[in-house]
Formats: sequence, C-alpha cells, structure tokens
Amino acid sequence: MKKHNFSAGPCILPEEVLQKAAQSVVDLDGSGLSLIEISHRSEAFVAIMEKARTLALELLGLEGKGYKALFLQGGASLEFLMVAYNLLESSAGYINTGTWSQKAIKEASAFGKVVEIASSEDEGFNYIPKGFAVPEGLDYLHLTSNNTIFGTQFKKFPATSVPLVADMSSDIFSRPLDYSMFDLIYAGAQKNMGPAGATLVVVKEEILGRVTRKIPSMLDYTVHIGKESMFNTPPVFAVYTSMLTLEWLQRQGGIAGIAEQNEKKARLLYSEIDLNPLFDGYAKKEDRSDMNATFTLTEPALKDTFDAMWKAAGINGLNGHRSVGGYRASMYNALSMESVGVLVDVMSDLERKA
Ligand code: PMP
Repeated sequence: MKKHNFSAGPCILPEEVLQKAAQSVVDLDGSGLSLIEISHRSEAFVAIMEKARTLALELLGLEGKGYKALFLQGGASLEFLMVAYNLLESSAGYINTGTWSQKAIKEASAFGKVVEIASSEDEGFNYIPKGFAVPEGLDYLHLTSNNTIFGTQFKKFPATSVPLVADMSSDIFSRPLDYSMFDLIYAGAQKNMGPAGATLVVVKEEILGRVTRKIPSMLDYTVHIGKESMFNTPPVFAVYTSMLTLEWLQRQGGIAGIAEQNEKKARLLYSEIDLNPLFDGYAKKEDRSDMNATFTLTEPALKDTFDAMWKAAGINGLNGHRSVGGYRASMYNALSMESVGVLVDVMSDLERKA
C-alpha cells in the first residue's frame, strides 16, 4: 500500500514523475540507453538541462527579466557559503528565523560583517519578525522564506533597496509571489522539485561581479552561468527528475494552480489543530506555513496511542524535527488532499477515543 507521505524532505513526489523517472533509468525515451549512462554532453541531456532551466524561470514568471536558472550541487547548505562568496563585500543583513537561517549566518560570517536585522529566537522561532528597518548600504539582505523546522513562513517580504536573497528550499514553487522582488533564490531540490542532489539557483545577473575577492571556479555563479549549468558533470538524475516535476507542475496550472490546492490542504489541517482540544499549533497563526504544519499534543500521555493510530492509517513522516519535538505534517505540492483528510480523520478519532 502506498503511504501517505508527510515527510519533511526528501519527501513526496508525484506518482507519475516517479514512474517516468524509474522507466528512464532503464531506457530513456526508447533510446536504448539509460538516463544515467548517457553523456551529459549528449543532445538528449543538454535538452533536459535546458528544459529544466527554462521551466524554472517560466513557472516563477522570471523569463526575460535578467535572471538565470542554474542546477548546482552541494544542497542549499553550499548556497549558504556561495551566496556570501559571490555577493558579500563588506556587510550583509540576515533575518534569523531558525536553524537554517543560523547556518546561513554562520557561513556568511567568514566573508564579511553579518548584521542580524531581526530575529524570532526570543520565542523559540514560532513567529516571523515584522516592522524592522533594513539599513541602506548592505550588500544584500538574506531571509529564509519558509522555516521547515518551526513551521513559519513569510507572508509579506521586507521592502528594501538592497538585493534580496531568499532560501526557498521548503516552499519554492508553492505559492504565487512577485518573484522579481528577489535578486537571488536558492532551493535544494528535495522538497517541491525532485530528489536530493540538485540545487536550484535563480539569480539576477546584474548583482554578480561586484565583489573584489577571487572566487574559485566551482563556487562562482558567473562561471556556472557561462557554462549553462554544465561546468562539470551535473547530477543528471536529479536534474531530469526535477524537470519532470516542473512539467507536472505546469500541468497542474503552474504555481497558481498548485497554490489553490496547497491553501485548501493547509486550511483543512489547521482547522483540525485549532478545533481539536488535544492539539496545539506551534507557530503563531498569522505566520503559519502552508508547507510544514507543526503541532503538539496537549496531553502527552496520548502520544503512544496517537502514534499507533497514524501509523496504522498508513501515514509516514509525522514526527517533529528532533530540535522541536511534537509533530510536523509537511504538505508539499505532490501531497494529495486525500492524504491530509486521512490525517485529520485520525486526529478527530483520537478526540473521540480519549
Ligand atoms: N534551508 C532550508 C529551509 C531547509 O529546509 C534545508 C533542508 N531541510 C536546508 C536549507 C538545507 O538543505 P540541504 O540539505 O539541501 O543542504
């Protein structure tokens, strides 16, 4: 039986993408060759890379606006470092909304002055800071649009004249935004895009080339742009599967289409969390993530019963991050409304039984 997969990442992907990717590992489009045994310089793979890069820009509404899309390696964690390597000359602003922001801050600190513009650490990262001023003259402002661990999400983004950089690892392609307000977006593939191994970077070219330091080739966005994301052998399987997911997303009506589904899923789960006295939401209501819902049991003694119930219902991946505890239901693009319904039914069954 296929499980209802609420895992935080790597996570659920569309079934049709999994089937097609599996088939292509054996035989790519009837070519008599496997996707993973052809040259990355072959016509077939160059077309795949091009399609993936173009689709990423198209879906974000950034085509023809001075942006380039790259599929790199090293995960979002390497971008913590690459962003600073390529953009930080003197000082950069960071908004600290949790573990991933802190890791980004740590890496950037090696390259220049890091100014913490705002933080939600005082309340265990259960909210998104608001009403802060962003100083002029920063090289860039960095934020984490969706905080996978704590379940908070920026609904409005700070107005600033400095380049805006966003780690969108856990909510890329999930909601309509004016993506042109960002100058650089990065995201590990393994949530809304594909398998781990590729990282999407979307960068406005005009912000590059401003730092004076020498950047090693492999860490230089300009080098990767010049080589059309083929500076070295790319992670072909991750790029191909990401391309398939982006094509699937297009068939769902693009970001606007999937966002409608995502809102419905989030509304269903959060209304159960709010109405059921056995559960408490972790994040402040106005900052709740549509992707990762974090919650706890109001009666910890029910933990074993609840855990046994959701496992018996075929649910996978509901445990909270080890640093927060409780539960986390990740509702990425490919998760169906039906799966959320199964979880909500288990939660209301628990209330009836308790
Ligand atoms: N940023 C965010 C918001 C994340 O959720 C994660 C991983 N869960 C990372 C960064 C780190 O990504 P990676 O493992 O691809 O380096």
